[in-house]
Amino acid sequence: MKVLLIEDDHALAQALSEALRDAGLIVETAPNGSEGDFLVRTERYDAVVLDLGLPDGDGTRWLSQWRDDGLDLPVLILTARERWSDKAAGFSAGADDYVTKPFETGEVLFRLRALVRRSHGHSHPVLSSGALTFDTHSGSVTLAGRPINLTAQEARLLAYLMHAAPRTVSRSELSEHVYDRDHEPDSNVIDVQISRLRRKLGSERIETLRGQGYRLVAIETPA
Ligand code: CA
Repeated sequence: MKVLLIEDDHALAQALSEALRDAGLIVETAPNGSEGDFLVRTERYDAVVLDLGLPDGDGTRWLSQWRDDGLDLPVLILTARERWSDKAAGFSAGADDYVTKPFETGEVLFRLRALVRRSHGHSHPVLSSGALTFDTHSGSVTLAGRPINLTAQEARLLAYLMHAAPRTVSRSELSEHVYDRDHEPDSNVIDVQISRLRRKLGSERIETLRGQGYRLVAIETPA
């Protein structure tokens, strides 16, 4: 899951992005609205965390432009303001949720995960596919009740496939959503990680559709 954090408070942006990265997210940051706007329009993110008080204009201004232009990705607004009118302005500009500063980074994480799940049509924190489960809160994966150890990168890849299932996901979509912009993998890296996942989960669980990508298949039996 790849998130863009638009926040001009450098210390806050750094602390929050570190906490989100520790939780396994890919985080990119922008220190103002215009850079954020550029990234939102050129990169693919699963969600945006948007500060309302930005040096080059109120966050709601950028947000309502995105919505006007049909950009419908989930947006969580950060606001230092307690007043209901500011939150209402955020929602009417198209925000999906908000967190008031000061906040616990854990709260931002939970809200972001919930937003991304809902945007993929899932409302429950535990994703499942046949005998396979993925708890998006704890990051733990089980197969027929047995815990499976995955590396952080394998877990990210699996979480994305599970969120998308039963849709087929192309390699370019995976490389945009599962890997950092500065560390975009060649397709060989994706192949290697897919084959490791297959070894751990059972090869028939991840189907390759030639020329199209990968698809998670729900299988009720263990590997
Ligand atoms: Ca600010």
